[in-house]
Amino acid sequence: MTDEPYGFYDFSDSTDSSEACEPAPLSATDTLKRYWGYDNFRPMQAEIIASVLAGHDTVGLLPTGGGKSITFQVPALMLQGLTVVVTPLISLMKDQLDNLQRRNVKAACLHSGMTRSETDYAYERCRQGRIKLLYVAPERICTDRFMAMLDTVDTSLFVIDEAHCISQWGYDFRPSYMGLDTLREHYPTVPLLALTASATPEVVDDIALRLGMKNEKRFSLSFTRDNISFLVRHTEDKYGKLLDILRATTGSAIVYTRSRRRTSDLASLLAREGFSALHYHAGLEPHEKASKQDSWQSGDTRIMVATTAFGMGIDKPDVRLVVHYDIPTTLEEYYQEAGRAGRDGLPSVAVVLASERDKATLARRVATAFPDKEFIRRTYDEICRFLEVPMGEGFSAIFDFKPSVMCARYHMPEAQVMSALGILARSEYIDYVDELDIEAQAMITVPRDALYGLEFSPLEDAVLNYMLRHYPGIFSELVFVNESHIAADCGVVPQKVYEILCKWRREHLISFIPRRCTPYVVFTANRVPGAKLLIPHEIYEDRREALRRRIAAMSDYVFADASCRVRRMLAYFGENGNVDCGKCDVCRARRSVARPFVAKEFEKRLDTFFDMIAPQTWLDTRSLRPYYPSTFDAVAAHIAHMVHSGILLADGHMISKVNKS
Ligand code: ADP
Ligand code: MG
Repeated sequence: MTDEPYGFYDFSDSTDSSEACEPAPLSATDTLKRYWGYDNFRPMQAEIIASVLAGHDTVGLLPTGGGKSITFQVPALMLQGLTVVVTPLISLMKDQLDNLQRRNVKAACLHSGMTRSETDYAYERCRQGRIKLLYVAPERICTDRFMAMLDTVDTSLFVIDEAHCISQWGYDFRPSYMGLDTLREHYPTVPLLALTASATPEVVDDIALRLGMKNEKRFSLSFTRDNISFLVRHTEDKYGKLLDILRATTGSAIVYTRSRRRTSDLASLLAREGFSALHYHAGLEPHEKASKQDSWQSGDTRIMVATTAFGMGIDKPDVRLVVHYDIPTTLEEYYQEAGRAGRDGLPSVAVVLASERDKATLARRVATAFPDKEFIRRTYDEICRFLEVPMGEGFSAIFDFKPSVMCARYHMPEAQVMSALGILARSEYIDYVDELDIEAQAMITVPRDALYGLEFSPLEDAVLNYMLRHYPGIFSELVFVNESHIAADCGVVPQKVYEILCKWRREHLISFIPRRCTPYVVFTANRVPGAKLLIPHEIYEDRREALRRRIAAMSDYVFADASCRVRRMLAYFGENGNVDCGKCDVCRARRSVARPFVAKEFEKRLDTFFDMIAPQTWLDTRSLRPYYPSTFDAVAAHIAHMVHSGILLADGHMISKVNKS
């Protein structure tokens, strides 16, 4: 395959010559259809794209899962030059790159986890105009090398993803975002697109100001998720409550908990109860993660019990239930995680399980997230000692680094060390990167014809065939190759595939960069004595205060029961509507006054049952009998009352929820 420069309208790797010879201009809708296979834009996508294509500075505010990526990927394919996308997390870049590669869109990234040769290669491809989308970590933007490269290419658009990171009022401020104002300074005519899922109105103003936007167009979608019922259940028996909830519902579910250990404990307990459940956290081996995710994604497994590591990059439309076994720290996190329910727009439920103890636990998180400065200095010194970095040296050095190993050796509390690492990163001394899993990359360096003259074992043949079928660009550039997929296809373990790829590398048939998944640190400044560390006010004191306020809002959402929960959450995000949602537990409790007597304990259970009854399905009341062996009559009376009050529909023994819409 030849490596042709991009035509104006066709950027795919397609070998179908009939397509290549009629370069009809693609509209935005055609581009969406052609590369993604989607027929329609989601709300607000088309408006944002039109604004970008018209050359306006644009701010797009769409909830998580709203489809922000499409709003720059589609224009990137339609515009002549390069689109530069600033993204803070390497894992996000990687997801996007994988995704684009599958759609035959040429994209590359630049971040601190790349080797020198990978970086050189990415720069080279940009310079040659062989890339449409370049994902860049914010700290790269201000480097001379990056700016020099930009000067040699034709840039059509700058995109700032997760743009709230530029604002100190935002919940995830990153100092490296501050440097992004150089983009406007150096390229006053290239339009800017800023995207975020959560920004209060003052943060949006701040974003526009700091990026130097001019007459920007703003587009936002309400945070309302009408199809999700937001519930809080106060209980001292979370596990029992969880079982009730899972029994009363059907469909895919996620159960979030904050401890890795508990993900596996809960999943095996649930499995013993007959549920299909798996667990997931960042510490699992990559192939385990992938196979669990696949099993859940395809619906083979109903329940994923996970830490918050599960979710980034997943996209399952029909999640019916998201349960929080532990309370998230902020409403931003909660909204993001709960919002994974019901992306298909069908009725879904999000439940927080809260116990009395949780209130105090929540308040304690401030101290864990902001250990005192002495501790931060000590952490820094110990890391330098552990890695044997001499005083005054270290700048840009990269080390494999497992915090748990250091913590064990020096007897340090790991949670605080992790927080200290975050503060040291923001203060720009060292950057710690984990949960990183960069897939192997390969490129075949001999011509296709030459391959036919070579001797291969049957397994080698199978591996080669898989790669030729699945990685169309592999003769012209490094592409991500998934050893687990290849191995599964060939019926061997991934290690075997890895060995074959290494052998081919030795034989100079391929370039091969093995996968990497060890956490590492990068020194972003030379080592200084811990006592001399500068930890700025805005990175420590201001952020600590901001966290206190956010935790207070989260605590209010869970523990205050006086007004509609959804309204309080929306108000936090700057939407001051004056209608109650009618679906959260507070609104429901108000509706259902004057009910006949049912023992308190069972009434609560019954509420759970009602909340959880799967939408638009019928349930046989007789199936409830085993759950209420001694009080079934009272339960039946209660159900009859709910039918009478128009809350439930009845048809013989079958009941269903009344559709409120
Ligand atoms: P965000 O960045 O806003 O959280 P993403 O860009 O990751 O959301 O998109 C979430 C999912 O929605 C992706 O899997 C994407 O493919 C899908 N998606 C986006 N736009 C559309 C569309 N117009 N039609 C169908 N699916 C879409
Ligand atoms: Mg996104």
